Amino acid sequence: MSRSVLVTGGNRGIGLAIARAFAEAGDAVTITHRSGEPPEGLSGVLCDVTDAASVEAAFEKVEAEQGPVEVLVANAGITRDTLMLRMSEDDFTDVVDTNLSGAFRVAKRASKGMLRARKGRIVFISSVVGLLGSAGQVNYAASKAGMVGMARSIARELGSRSITANVVAPGFVESDMTASLSEDRKDEILKGIPLGRYASAEEVARVVRWLASDEAAYITGAVVPVDGGLGMGH
Ligand code: NDP
Repeated sequence: MSRSVLVTGGNRGIGLAIARAFAEAGDAVTITHRSGEPPEGLSGVLCDVTDAASVEAAFEKVEAEQGPVEVLVANAGITRDTLMLRMSEDDFTDVVDTNLSGAFRVAKRASKGMLRARKGRIVFISSVVGLLGSAGQVNYAASKAGMVGMARSIARELGSRSITANVVAPGFVESDMTASLSEDRKDEILKGIPLGRYASAEEVARVVRWLASDEAAYITGAVVPVDGGLGMGH
């Protein structure tokens, strides 16, 4: 049965792979984008997750076009990497406002329709570094760790209405975000990954789709690593 799916930041990278995975399974999928046109074959809605009014307008459009959101994937995210002593307060708050508060804004808005429907799936895209820590990513790791507490609290608040909230924690994935890393840093990272390679965005996408499927109906509050063993269960 086709469901109404919304993927934030689904115009490129991991979000786009997630959106395509749901679309391939026959769901009605809308992605958020901040500029330009949506990728071919997908519906798009302009939305900046740091702006509550923009989030509200996006949900109203999605609801009008494909019905209340039954599956929300909070994927939009940014990095502003630098060592803590050099990290400005804006570097910290901008990352938290996008990655963590942005996820809160969309989850809160999506939960309204899910509560009415007495079902729903929320998947937060976190990162292995949320629980592992990462030098140069105090802001990013804090935002991604925060998603775990948020998802688990939502799981407790909404579980009685058959709404699940889970976290997918990718390791290193080939995308624009990792393309900017230096070759030395990439080599160093690969040494710590038992599977010895980066993930493809599609490998993350398939896990997200599964968590939102009937097969995963009894999983909530979980952190599912897709990291080639980098975090070893973290
Ligand atoms: P990209 O940088 O390729 O894409 C990020 C996406 O987020 C873009 O669609 C971007 O939109 C969107 N976005 C950023 N800020 C906002 C905002 N304020 N409002 C709405 N959308 C926004 O990253 P990835 O695909 O690599 O990452 C996707 C998610 O996966 C992120 O949350 C990231 O932290 C996480 N992740 C990535 C890993 C990796 O190795 N790549 C590893 C672990 C986690 P726009 O095109 O407009 O900029």
